[in-house]
This record gives sequence, structure tokens and C-alpha cells, in this order.
Amino acid sequence: MCAESAHSSGNLSSSSSLIFRKGLDLKHAVAGMLAESYHSELVDQIKASDFTLQSGRLTVHLAREFGFCYGVDRAVDYAYQTRRRFPDRAVYLTGEIIHNPHVNDQLRAMGVRFLSDTKGAIDTLTADDVIILPAFGVTMAMLQQLERRGCTLIDTTCGSVLNVWKNVRRYAEGGYTSVIHGKVWHEETQATASQAVEYGGRYLVVFNDAEAAVVCDYIRTGQNPASVLERFPRAVSTGFDPERDLQRIGLANQTTMLMSESLQIEQMFKAAMTDRYGATSLASHFQAFDTICSATQDRQDAVVALLAEQTVDLMIVIGGYNSSNTCNLARICANSKPTFHIADPECLVSGEEIRHRPVGSKTEETTKGWLPASGPVSVGLTSGASTPDNLVGDAVRRLVSFTAAT
Ligand code: SF4
Repeated sequence: MCAESAHSSGNLSSSSSLIFRKGLDLKHAVAGMLAESYHSELVDQIKASDFTLQSGRLTVHLAREFGFCYGVDRAVDYAYQTRRRFPDRAVYLTGEIIHNPHVNDQLRAMGVRFLSDTKGAIDTLTADDVIILPAFGVTMAMLQQLERRGCTLIDTTCGSVLNVWKNVRRYAEGGYTSVIHGKVWHEETQATASQAVEYGGRYLVVFNDAEAAVVCDYIRTGQNPASVLERFPRAVSTGFDPERDLQRIGLANQTTMLMSESLQIEQMFKAAMTDRYGATSLASHFQAFDTICSATQDRQDAVVALLAEQTVDLMIVIGGYNSSNTCNLARICANSKPTFHIADPECLVSGEEIRHRPVGSKTEETTKGWLPASGPVSVGLTSGASTPDNLVGDAVRRLVSFTAAT
């Protein structure tokens, strides 16, 4: 069995927790259940037909990369193995294992409980309890709390997230403040920020280029440090001092951000630091490392290619509304096509009505007349890294049924 009785990602010197990081040797035992829950023969058929389905007046073009990424695949696999390995013990997730309501509901149905459901639940845990850490990781504070309680931990933190942490730690140890392009409310970014602090460093989180511009303005002029603190009250480490903490910075990303935006932000900071300190001194004031994960990048590239190569009337993007990588796929699509980001296939209510969350909106809306009522219709389809294929298959079936009789 692949267990290790050491901490997974922090500095703790002693721990009574048993930590599993490489599964529980039950991969084959749960493979059937996973296939039954998340696989789709229809999706396999479409892939085998050059990622295209033709049915009557409907054509569906699937992106060539979509759905479960390697990190999510592994996390869900480990969660199923955990339930199988510990049938008589309480098994918890710290929160959503991935940002897909369908997958989380399946785990709830298997008796896996969510610490995030009950305030203070973590304080009631004992050494008998088994806790699954999600693919996007947990903060150092939570990890230390769980270890102090002696819980058995199943660590599914994705290797690509661990890679970000490695760079953030390197920045901290070298005296560089981590500037993280990410969502400050997202679990992964919170966990990454906590790594900076754990290793004696500082951090600042910028969400987009507008926020980056505020920080870059300060870096260039050195004027009005209060403006930075006012703009980022909850996105900086405790005691953050712009004058001291923005002299040496290292860039990192939440793994699921829009690659083009991350690169733009990196260039903005590089230019600002060059203006302030000069090109010859840049290396001692600025570092950058691309930490967008390859799965996110592949899905973004695939949807760009689909839009370039196929003529589609509209795009459907399937994935949780709180899934960062899904939201970014929808952003890419919405730049050039009518785009409907749906949380699950049931959002395709009928050929007349669709429930979806428009890009940039925080609420789900209902749109009428979304699908052309007659004539040929071509639909582009992709899904986020936390969306299983069976949901994509169900969505295709609905599209076929909506267009079959018209
Ligand atoms: S999106 Fe990337 S970082 Fe996140 S779980 Fe998937 S592979 Fe890992």
C-alpha cells in the first residue's frame, strides 16, 4: 500500500497522520464503478468519427481536448478507492473534490461527507476519520489542523499544483514576493498563497490586467502605497508593505487561468520592474515561471482550433459555474460566437429554452429561442477539466432530440 506517515506539503516536524499520496492499491477494484459513473460510449463514437456527429439537420463538433484532466481523473479515482478501502470509517472531503456538482453528488451518495457543509466540523474530527484533500490542494493551516487531529489523509493534490507551490516556495526562500494571477476566493490560490507564507514569504493576488495595472503603476512611481492596500484588502499577506514587498517579485498563476491573460500580466510586471530598476538589474527584481497546467492549456488551444477550423452557429461549454477553467473556455468562445455555459445537460431544457450563465455574470439566466428552429445547425461543444464524459454524451443526446423532429 502506498502510504507515507509524513506531511505532504508543509514544514511540520512531526505528525501522527498517515498520508496516502499515490492511491490505495485499489485502482482495478474501482475501475468498473468509475466507468459506469462517468464514461460515455457516445462520446467515444464521436471521437472516433473525427470529433464530429451528424444527425439530421444537426452537426456537433467536439473540441479535440475536453473533459476530465489527469489531475481530476486521479482525484476522483483516489476518492473511490478511499471509500472502498475504508468502508466502516467516516470519510470526508474538505470541500468539493473538483468543481462539478454531478461528481460531488455522486460522492455524497457513496456516503462521503463534506467538512464544508458544517461549520466547525473540522474541530470534531478524530484519528478514526479519513480525509480526502482535493485536486487543488488545501491551505497549510488546514493541513496542519488535520495533522494535529491525527486523521488519515488521502492527498489528491495535482502534480501541476505542486509545481506552482515549488516555485512559490523558491520565491519565498529567495526573498521574492509571489504575485499570483488567480482568484483570491479560489481554494487553489488560497493554498498557493499559504505556501508563500509558510516559507517566510509574502504574496499579492491579482485577478486580471486591470488589477495588475494598479500594482504596476505603483511599482513605476513608488507613489501612494496606500492605493495598493486599499485596492487589495484581502488579497495580500498580513502586514504587506508595498514599499518593501514590491521591490522583488516572482510571478505565478492559478493553474486554470486564461493563458493569454497570464502572459499579458507577466509582461506588464516585467515592463514596470524594468522601468523602475533598469534592464540590467531586472533579474534581481523580477522572476517568472509559467504555471498554467498543460491540461488547461490543451483545452484552451483545442477550443481556439475548433473555432478557427469549423463553422459553428453557437458554442456550448459544459462545466460547473465555479469551475475556473470552464469559465475561461467560455470566455474564449464568447469572443467570437454566441456561447452558452451550462452547468449540466438538464440546462438544455428544450430546443426553445436554455439555462446558462453568461460570461462575466454571477447568475444563471434563461434564454428563449437559442437554437435555430429550422435548417442546418452546427454546434461546437467543449467541457471543463472537471466535467465527466457522460454529461457531454447526455448533452449531445438532448441536442439530437431537439433537432430530430424539426
Ligand atoms: S486543471 Fe490542471 S492543475 Fe487542475 S487538476 Fe487538472 S491537471 Fe491538475
